[in-house]
Amino acid sequence: MEISKEQFKKEYNRALTSLYATEVHDLTPLEQYITLGSVVKEYTAQNWMQTKREYQQNQAKQVYYFSIEFLPGKLLKSNLLNLGILDTVREGLADLGVDFTHLEEVESDQGLGNGGLGRLAACFMDSMATCDVPGNGNGIRYRHGLFRQKFVNGYQVELPDNWLRHENVWETRRENKAETVRFYGQVHLEENEEGQIVPTYRNTQDVLAVPYDTAMTGYENDTVNNLRLWSAEIPASAEVDYSSEGMRKSIHNISDMLYPDDSSYDGRMLRLKQEYFFVSAGVQSILRYYRKLGVPMEHLAENISIHINDTHPTMCIPELMRLLLDEEGLTWEAAWAITMKTCSYTNHTIMAEALEKWPEHMVAELVPRIYQIICEINRRHIESMTLLYGAQFTWRTSIIQDGIIHMAHLAIIGSHSINGVAKLHTEILKEKALHDFYLAFPARFNNKTNGITHRRWLLLSNEGLSDLISDYIGTEWKKKPNELYLLKAFKEDSVLLDKLEQVKLDNKMRLAEYVKETMGIEIDPHAVFDVQIKRLHAYKRQLLNVLHILSLYLKLKEGPTPEQEMVPRVFIFGAKAAPSYSYAKEIIKLINAVADLINNDTSINNKIKVVFVENYGVTLAEKIIPAADISEQISLVTKEASGTSNMKLMLNGAITLATLDGANVEIRDKVGDENMLLFGMQEAELYHFYDSHSYHSHDIYNHNPRLKRCLDALVDGTIPNIEAEGQEIFDSLLKYNDEYFVLKDYDSYVAAQSRIDSLYTDRKKWNQMSLLNIAHAGEFSSDYTIMHYADEIWNVHHNKNL
Ligand SMILES: *Cc1c(COP(=O)(O)O)cnc(C)c1O
Repeated sequence: MEISKEQFKKEYNRALTSLYATEVHDLTPLEQYITLGSVVKEYTAQNWMQTKREYQQNQAKQVYYFSIEFLPGKLLKSNLLNLGILDTVREGLADLGVDFTHLEEVESDQGLGNGGLGRLAACFMDSMATCDVPGNGNGIRYRHGLFRQKFVNGYQVELPDNWLRHENVWETRRENKAETVRFYGQVHLEENEEGQIVPTYRNTQDVLAVPYDTAMTGYENDTVNNLRLWSAEIPASAEVDYSSEGMRKSIHNISDMLYPDDSSYDGRMLRLKQEYFFVSAGVQSILRYYRKLGVPMEHLAENISIHINDTHPTMCIPELMRLLLDEEGLTWEAAWAITMKTCSYTNHTIMAEALEKWPEHMVAELVPRIYQIICEINRRHIESMTLLYGAQFTWRTSIIQDGIIHMAHLAIIGSHSINGVAKLHTEILKEKALHDFYLAFPARFNNKTNGITHRRWLLLSNEGLSDLISDYIGTEWKKKPNELYLLKAFKEDSVLLDKLEQVKLDNKMRLAEYVKETMGIEIDPHAVFDVQIKRLHAYKRQLLNVLHILSLYLKLKEGPTPEQEMVPRVFIFGAKAAPSYSYAKEIIKLINAVADLINNDTSINNKIKVVFVENYGVTLAEKIIPAADISEQISLVTKEASGTSNMKLMLNGAITLATLDGANVEIRDKVGDENMLLFGMQEAELYHFYDSHSYHSHDIYNHNPRLKRCLDALVDGTIPNIEAEGQEIFDSLLKYNDEYFVLKDYDSYVAAQSRIDSLYTDRKKWNQMSLLNIAHAGEFSSDYTIMHYADEIWNVHHNKNL
């Protein structure tokens, strides 16, 4: 949009008068922020209405992206950037004596997600708007997002994330669009006067789902899509008495908090309730919209796409069936054909403990009609498959096995498309994890490698690098991120390479200042900043990282090593552990204990520092990523479906230290082995160990004195205050045979790490590697990912050429 600085100032002043009836210098930063938010919201509103009108006029096919998590982070700067008024607003505010950075700081981070899955959903919302894909997000408005993490004595403590304490300026409550969601009770099928079988419900518990809409602005294209998050409220009903405390609380709880675990399945009733709550509200609202179009139900799939992000929204399938059968009066065959064509599903994990499985009796109790429909879907599936493939094969693909409902099976059977999130992951789905389904439905399987929005992860968070790039290749890359490859032409341009180094140094200085202020730790911006930021999980192997740090430390202590040999290192961690995941919490304690030991040992001359930032989230990621030299992507091969922090870090010029897992494989295919630091087992070798049961971690321990010394340090008092945790971790590696092959990959990891010293010392070489990584990172923009979804899964319009 176009707006002059003067006009903006006028509008800002008008807004603050109407909101607070005072002068700008009388406002707190929070009030100044709320004022700015209201002005920006008004700017967005025009485009929002216009976009809606255009979609209606063009009868554009709509995508509904169902996700139990959305992790957008802060929205102020992103909205200003996308509207194209960031500089105007910053300058206008400066004229009024307001520092924009203070306003940014008071915004709360919208943390309605655990990690990669929720962040992907947020990147997709940004890209759908930017690519003019008519896309709608559908999720839950949790009153509490992911917990706030504090360290007390090195232990993780969880505090509630009260992100709605202050007004959320971005949301619009739409009570007139509320839906009713039914739980529990009994359902009977009866024939009505027209001879149709219809259900009658008794003793249900009804919940009012009230939507809160947030504008998702596209980048400089005037498109605004909608993120709709549902809040559970008590219905105004004459018939039912909702006054009991228990009843009110049980409704309130549905949208009260996000489950803080992204790595294992939690079989509690409240979680199942959350899933049906946002699915039912969402699908009902879609059909309400669709009926108004006046197009026959038979054409639903030509006008609507429902995307199921991981299995949590799988009940979209039986819910859509329910509405088509019970409310629209379609035959089963007609309803099923429509449902299959409308729904598509993304698989995010093959880890057994994360696969959703619900006991039949829970589903039958909570959503009896949905349960009936799931049973009938399964009965027909088994009937048709048995004829073709025999009973045994068919049983393995059954939705219900031994009283357990397998959500992934339902998602696959009811969708026309099933995609993995990186090439390797999709191959593993086809060949191993979902092989039977692949044999039965080969055409449904496809790959869509994850992506990231380069707007948040470069334009907003690394303005220095962004400007430098534009100085050399112009600004086209902002709209066509793959044009970053034009940077390759400057590989020998030493002026650019020096400037690149300077930008990185500036970012490192800023991060060092933040670390000093918030943690009291001094770090040297000239050290190598080695970064591992992601959820804490055994498969991601933060343990491998900390064991290497420990070994470096012990080597320094043992001396004598020539001082010049080692470039100073700062190891930076950011990670939350699920509150119930005690092993992950023990690793947090270990890293903090190692940090304490090393940071306070003056004898090593500040050669190593360890920084574990508290409360890692989107906002911290935006501070850390621009300052990273090394990107640690060290999961056990086959375990990380894609990863996206690998892409963000690469885009900011970090060198990836990685196993060939997830999207790291595709990063390697683009930048080449020589511009990465690869190590560790590959897929075939791991499967060989699994098949032959021939891995014995004890043998490695016994034959590797350096590693043994390191592991012994966990239990011999070398690291103070970790008696219990040290022993548990030690046992996991030796007594329980090291499930994630940390010891197996240790030597190869140390070797890759030791290459960093000489590479980093050759500044030109390093800067070239960094430049090449940036040059290839544009291809991981989620704009391209979304265009592939639009073309190959949803069959919807988008406005860009690949
Ligand atoms: C990108 C991102 C993630 C995902 O990181 P991975 O390393 O891919 O697991 C998690 N949390 C936040 C806050 C992110 O921004």
